[in-house]
Amino acid sequence: MLYGAIEAGGTKFVCAVGNETGEIIEKVTIPTLTPDETMPQVLEFLRKYDLNAIGIGSFGPVDLNAQSPTYGSITTTPKLAWRNYPLLNVIKDAFSVPVGFQTDVNAAALGELHFGAAKGLDSCLYLTVGTGIGGGAVVNGQVVQGLSHPEMGHIFVRRHPNDSYEGKCPYHSDCLEGLAAGPAIEARWGKKGHELKEQSEVWEIEAYYLAQALVQYILILSPQKMILGGGVMKQTQLFPLIRQHVQDLLNGYVELPNLESYIVPPGLGDNAGITGALVLAYEKGQSGQLRN
Ligand code: ADP
Ligand code: ZN
Repeated sequence: MLYGAIEAGGTKFVCAVGNETGEIIEKVTIPTLTPDETMPQVLEFLRKYDLNAIGIGSFGPVDLNAQSPTYGSITTTPKLAWRNYPLLNVIKDAFSVPVGFQTDVNAAALGELHFGAAKGLDSCLYLTVGTGIGGGAVVNGQVVQGLSHPEMGHIFVRRHPNDSYEGKCPYHSDCLEGLAAGPAIEARWGKKGHELKEQSEVWEIEAYYLAQALVQYILILSPQKMILGGGVMKQTQLFPLIRQHVQDLLNGYVELPNLESYIVPPGLGDNAGITGALVLAYEKGQSGQLRN
Protein backbone atom coordinates (compact mmCIF):
# COMPACT_ATOMS: atom_id res chain seq x y z
CA MET A 1 0.00 0.00 0.00
CA LEU A 2 1.24 3.48 -0.79
CA TYR A 3 0.71 6.59 1.27
CA GLY A 4 1.43 10.22 0.51
CA ALA A 5 3.04 12.65 2.94
CA ILE A 6 3.43 16.41 2.94
CA GLU A 7 5.60 18.33 5.37
CA ALA A 8 4.65 21.94 4.74
CA GLY A 9 7.35 24.26 6.04
CA GLY A 10 7.88 28.00 5.89
CA THR A 11 10.89 27.65 3.58
CA LYS A 12 10.21 24.34 1.85
CA PHE A 13 7.58 21.70 1.27
CA VAL A 14 8.84 18.14 1.52
CA CYS A 15 6.60 15.63 -0.23
CA ALA A 16 7.04 11.90 -0.07
CA VAL A 17 5.47 8.60 -0.90
CA GLY A 18 6.04 5.70 1.45
CA ASN A 19 4.64 2.48 2.82
CA GLU A 20 3.42 1.13 6.16
CA THR A 21 6.95 0.34 7.38
CA GLY A 22 7.83 4.04 7.40
CA GLU A 23 10.06 3.51 4.38
CA ILE A 24 10.20 6.51 2.06
CA ILE A 25 10.09 5.47 -1.58
CA GLU A 26 10.41 8.87 -3.23
CA LYS A 27 10.87 12.31 -1.74
CA VAL A 28 11.04 15.76 -3.29
CA THR A 29 11.65 19.24 -1.90
CA ILE A 30 9.73 22.19 -3.30
CA PRO A 31 10.44 25.79 -2.21
CA THR A 32 7.66 27.56 -0.30
CA LEU A 33 6.88 30.48 -2.62
CA THR A 34 3.23 31.50 -3.06
CA PRO A 35 0.49 28.83 -3.00
CA ASP A 36 -0.04 29.37 -6.75
CA GLU A 37 3.59 28.55 -7.41
CA THR A 38 4.15 25.79 -4.85
CA MET A 39 0.93 23.78 -4.73
CA PRO A 40 0.78 22.69 -8.40
CA GLN A 41 4.20 21.05 -7.92
CA VAL A 42 3.00 19.29 -4.77
CA LEU A 43 -0.07 17.94 -6.58
CA GLU A 44 1.94 16.92 -9.63
CA PHE A 45 4.32 14.84 -7.51
CA LEU A 46 1.60 13.04 -5.54
CA ARG A 47 -0.50 12.38 -8.67
CA LYS A 48 2.19 10.05 -10.01
CA TYR A 49 1.13 7.45 -7.44
CA ASP A 50 -1.99 5.51 -6.60
CA LEU A 51 -2.27 6.54 -2.95
CA ASN A 52 -4.44 5.05 -0.21
CA ALA A 53 -4.35 8.08 2.05
CA ILE A 54 -2.36 11.28 2.55
CA GLY A 55 -0.98 12.91 5.71
CA ILE A 56 -0.04 16.56 6.15
CA GLY A 57 2.17 18.09 8.84
CA SER A 58 2.01 21.85 8.42
CA PHE A 59 3.70 24.97 9.69
CA GLY A 60 1.30 27.08 11.64
CA PRO A 61 -0.58 28.33 13.31
CA VAL A 62 -3.20 26.02 11.83
CA ASP A 63 -6.88 25.43 12.56
CA LEU A 64 -7.15 21.92 14.04
CA ASN A 65 -10.76 22.13 15.18
CA ALA A 66 -12.59 19.59 13.04
CA GLN A 67 -15.91 21.43 13.64
CA SER A 68 -14.56 24.74 12.39
CA PRO A 69 -15.39 25.98 8.87
CA THR A 70 -11.70 26.78 8.45
CA TYR A 71 -10.47 23.38 9.71
CA GLY A 72 -7.19 22.51 8.01
CA SER A 73 -6.27 26.08 7.10
CA ILE A 74 -3.05 27.88 7.91
CA THR A 75 -4.23 30.88 9.96
CA THR A 76 -2.27 33.90 11.23
CA THR A 77 1.11 33.14 9.69
CA PRO A 78 3.43 36.08 8.98
CA LYS A 79 3.86 34.55 5.51
CA LEU A 80 1.09 36.65 4.01
CA ALA A 81 0.57 34.62 0.82
CA TRP A 82 -0.32 31.61 3.01
CA ARG A 83 -2.55 33.38 5.52
CA ASN A 84 -5.93 31.60 5.71
CA TYR A 85 -4.82 29.14 3.04
CA PRO A 86 -7.07 26.03 3.12
CA LEU A 87 -4.28 23.48 2.73
CA LEU A 88 -6.28 20.45 3.85
CA ASN A 89 -9.22 21.22 1.56
CA VAL A 90 -6.99 21.79 -1.44
CA ILE A 91 -5.47 18.32 -0.97
CA LYS A 92 -8.85 16.72 -0.25
CA ASP A 93 -10.32 18.27 -3.39
CA ALA A 94 -7.44 17.05 -5.52
CA PHE A 95 -7.42 13.42 -4.27
CA SER A 96 -10.41 11.36 -3.31
CA VAL A 97 -8.65 9.61 -0.42
CA PRO A 98 -8.65 10.20 3.37
CA VAL A 99 -6.34 13.05 4.42
CA GLY A 100 -4.85 13.46 7.92
CA PHE A 101 -3.81 16.90 9.12
CA GLN A 102 -1.61 18.07 12.01
CA THR A 103 1.02 20.61 12.91
CA ASP A 104 4.53 19.90 11.66
CA VAL A 105 5.86 19.26 15.17
CA ASN A 106 2.97 17.02 16.20
CA ALA A 107 3.65 15.03 13.03
CA ALA A 108 7.36 14.85 13.89
CA ALA A 109 6.54 13.59 17.39
CA LEU A 110 4.31 10.90 15.87
CA GLY A 111 7.02 9.90 13.38
CA GLU A 112 9.60 9.59 16.16
CA LEU A 113 7.17 7.58 18.30
CA HIS A 114 6.53 4.99 15.62
CA PHE A 115 9.83 4.80 13.79
CA GLY A 116 12.44 6.95 15.55
CA ALA A 117 13.97 7.68 18.93
CA ALA A 118 10.74 6.95 20.84
CA LYS A 119 9.94 3.67 19.08
CA GLY A 120 8.22 1.24 21.43
CA LEU A 121 7.09 3.98 23.84
CA ASP A 122 3.66 5.57 24.03
CA SER A 123 4.66 9.15 24.75
CA CYS A 124 7.28 11.61 23.60
CA LEU A 125 7.90 15.27 23.06
CA TYR A 126 9.45 16.75 19.93
CA LEU A 127 10.87 20.27 20.02
CA THR A 128 12.24 22.03 16.97
CA VAL A 129 14.67 24.89 17.47
CA GLY A 130 15.01 26.64 14.15
CA THR A 131 13.56 29.82 12.66
CA GLY A 132 11.01 29.50 15.43
CA ILE A 133 10.60 27.14 18.35
CA GLY A 134 7.70 24.72 18.32
CA GLY A 135 6.85 21.60 20.24
CA GLY A 136 4.59 18.64 19.64
CA ALA A 137 3.72 15.87 22.04
CA VAL A 138 2.22 12.43 21.90
CA VAL A 139 0.67 11.01 25.07
CA ASN A 140 -0.88 7.52 25.21
CA GLY A 141 -0.16 7.26 21.50
CA GLN A 142 -2.32 10.31 20.74
CA VAL A 143 -1.16 13.72 19.62
CA VAL A 144 -1.83 16.35 22.30
CA GLN A 145 -4.47 18.76 21.11
CA GLY A 146 -7.03 20.83 22.96
CA LEU A 147 -8.68 24.06 21.94
CA SER A 148 -6.00 24.13 19.33
CA HIS A 149 -2.42 22.86 19.24
CA PRO A 150 0.07 23.64 22.01
CA GLU A 151 2.44 26.59 21.45
CA MET A 152 5.41 25.34 23.44
CA GLY A 153 7.82 27.86 21.93
CA HIS A 154 6.16 30.83 23.60
CA ILE A 155 6.57 29.90 27.24
CA PHE A 156 8.42 32.27 29.56
CA VAL A 157 11.88 31.54 30.86
CA ARG A 158 14.10 33.08 33.51
CA ARG A 159 16.74 35.33 32.02
CA HIS A 160 20.37 34.32 31.94
CA PRO A 161 22.26 36.80 34.17
CA ASN A 162 24.68 37.63 31.31
CA ASP A 163 22.02 38.15 28.67
CA SER A 164 20.80 41.67 27.97
CA TYR A 165 19.29 40.92 24.53
CA GLU A 166 15.69 42.20 24.53
CA GLY A 167 14.19 39.26 22.62
CA LYS A 168 12.72 38.88 19.17
CA CYS A 169 9.16 37.56 19.54
CA PRO A 170 6.73 40.13 18.07
CA TYR A 171 4.09 39.09 20.63
CA HIS A 172 6.10 38.61 23.84
CA SER A 173 9.60 39.88 23.16
CA ASP A 174 11.51 37.61 25.57
CA CYS A 175 9.60 34.34 25.51
CA LEU A 176 11.59 31.16 24.77
CA GLU A 177 11.33 31.63 21.00
CA GLY A 178 12.19 35.32 21.35
CA LEU A 179 15.38 34.46 23.25
CA ALA A 180 16.50 31.13 21.82
CA ALA A 181 15.32 30.55 18.21
CA GLY A 182 17.89 30.88 15.41
CA PRO A 183 17.02 34.53 14.59
CA ALA A 184 17.44 35.49 18.28
CA ILE A 185 20.93 33.94 18.33
CA GLU A 186 21.79 35.89 15.20
CA ALA A 187 20.40 39.17 16.60
CA ARG A 188 22.15 38.74 19.97
CA TRP A 189 25.59 37.89 18.59
CA GLY A 190 25.54 39.53 15.15
CA LYS A 191 26.34 36.27 13.36
CA LYS A 192 24.41 33.20 12.30
CA GLY A 193 24.41 30.21 14.63
CA HIS A 194 26.59 28.04 12.40
CA GLU A 195 29.33 30.72 12.49
CA LEU A 196 29.40 30.78 16.31
CA LYS A 197 30.33 27.18 17.02
CA GLU A 198 33.55 28.04 18.87
CA GLN A 199 32.00 30.68 21.14
CA SER A 200 31.07 28.77 24.26
CA GLU A 201 29.08 31.62 25.85
CA VAL A 202 26.61 31.44 22.94
CA TRP A 203 25.76 27.82 23.69
CA GLU A 204 25.81 28.27 27.44
CA ILE A 205 23.03 30.87 27.20
CA GLU A 206 21.17 28.82 24.60
CA ALA A 207 21.29 25.66 26.73
CA TYR A 208 20.20 27.61 29.80
CA TYR A 209 16.97 28.65 28.05
CA LEU A 210 16.24 25.34 26.34
CA ALA A 211 16.81 23.39 29.56
CA GLN A 212 14.31 25.56 31.42
CA ALA A 213 11.75 24.82 28.73
CA LEU A 214 12.43 21.07 28.89
CA VAL A 215 12.05 21.10 32.66
CA GLN A 216 8.63 22.68 32.31
CA TYR A 217 7.54 20.17 29.69
CA ILE A 218 8.81 17.34 31.92
CA LEU A 219 6.90 18.69 34.92
CA ILE A 220 3.66 19.14 32.99
CA LEU A 221 3.65 16.22 30.55
CA SER A 222 6.15 13.71 31.88
CA PRO A 223 7.04 12.42 28.40
CA GLN A 224 9.02 9.18 28.12
CA LYS A 225 11.45 10.74 25.64
CA MET A 226 12.48 14.31 24.77
CA ILE A 227 13.60 14.77 21.17
CA LEU A 228 15.27 17.98 20.04
CA GLY A 229 15.56 18.81 16.34
CA GLY A 230 15.79 21.82 14.01
CA GLY A 231 18.73 23.76 12.60
CA VAL A 232 20.03 25.16 15.90
CA MET A 233 20.29 21.65 17.39
CA LYS A 234 22.85 20.80 14.67
CA GLN A 235 25.16 22.35 17.28
CA THR A 236 25.39 19.02 19.04
CA GLN A 237 27.54 20.45 21.84
CA LEU A 238 24.20 21.77 23.14
CA PHE A 239 23.02 18.32 24.20
CA PRO A 240 25.39 17.77 27.16
CA LEU A 241 24.94 21.39 28.26
CA ILE A 242 21.16 21.08 28.20
CA ARG A 243 21.24 17.76 30.07
CA GLN A 244 23.41 19.25 32.79
CA HIS A 245 21.08 22.24 33.28
CA VAL A 246 18.01 19.98 33.31
CA GLN A 247 19.62 17.88 36.01
CA ASP A 248 20.56 20.96 38.06
CA LEU A 249 17.13 22.57 37.72
CA LEU A 250 15.19 19.45 38.67
CA ASN A 251 17.59 18.89 41.54
CA GLY A 252 16.58 15.27 42.00
CA TYR A 253 12.87 16.02 42.39
CA VAL A 254 11.75 13.96 39.40
CA GLU A 255 13.17 10.53 38.73
CA LEU A 256 14.29 10.34 35.12
CA PRO A 257 16.10 7.78 32.98
CA ASN A 258 19.76 8.42 32.15
CA LEU A 259 19.62 11.85 30.51
CA GLU A 260 21.89 10.75 27.66
CA SER A 261 19.17 8.42 26.49
CA TYR A 262 16.30 10.71 27.54
CA ILE A 263 17.19 14.02 25.83
CA VAL A 264 18.21 13.05 22.33
CA PRO A 265 18.34 14.15 18.68
CA PRO A 266 15.69 12.79 16.29
CA GLY A 267 16.22 9.10 15.50
CA LEU A 268 14.90 9.86 12.01
CA GLY A 269 17.18 12.86 11.51
CA ASP A 270 15.65 15.33 9.09
CA ASN A 271 12.93 12.80 8.16
CA ALA A 272 11.00 13.01 11.44
CA GLY A 273 8.33 15.36 10.09
CA ILE A 274 7.79 13.67 6.75
CA THR A 275 7.69 10.21 8.37
CA GLY A 276 5.14 11.55 10.84
CA ALA A 277 3.04 12.77 7.93
CA LEU A 278 3.15 9.20 6.58
CA VAL A 279 1.94 7.94 9.97
CA LEU A 280 -0.93 10.46 9.80
CA ALA A 281 -1.81 9.02 6.40
CA TYR A 282 -1.94 5.42 7.69
CA GLU A 283 -3.94 6.46 10.72
CA LYS A 284 -6.43 8.31 8.55
CA GLY A 285 -6.59 5.54 5.98
CA GLN A 286 -6.89 2.87 8.68
CA SER A 287 -6.65 0.23 6.01
CA GLY A 288 -2.94 -0.22 6.51
CA GLN A 289 -1.19 -1.78 9.47
CA LEU A 290 1.87 -0.03 10.84
CA ARG A 291 4.76 -2.47 10.89
CA ASN A 292 7.48 -0.98 13.05
P1 ADP B 1 13.07 26.11 9.73
O1 ADP B 1 12.92 26.33 11.18
O2 ADP B 1 12.92 27.36 8.93
O3 ADP B 1 12.26 24.97 9.21
P2 ADP B 1 15.74 25.18 10.38
O4 ADP B 1 15.28 24.18 11.37
O5 ADP B 1 16.89 24.80 9.49
O6 ADP B 1 14.59 25.66 9.43
O7 ADP B 1 16.14 26.48 11.19
C1 ADP B 1 16.76 27.58 10.61
C2 ADP B 1 17.43 28.36 11.72
O8 ADP B 1 18.41 27.54 12.34
C3 ADP B 1 18.16 29.60 11.24
O9 ADP B 1 17.97 30.66 12.17
C4 ADP B 1 19.62 29.17 11.19
O10 ADP B 1 20.51 30.24 11.45
C5 ADP B 1 19.69 28.14 12.29
N1 ADP B 1 20.65 27.10 11.93
C6 ADP B 1 20.63 26.30 10.84
N2 ADP B 1 21.70 25.48 10.82
C7 ADP B 1 22.43 25.78 11.92
C8 ADP B 1 23.65 25.28 12.48
N3 ADP B 1 24.35 24.32 11.87
N4 ADP B 1 24.07 25.81 13.64
C9 ADP B 1 23.36 26.77 14.27
N5 ADP B 1 22.22 27.30 13.80
C10 ADP B 1 21.76 26.81 12.64
ZN1 ZN C 1 6.45 34.61 21.97
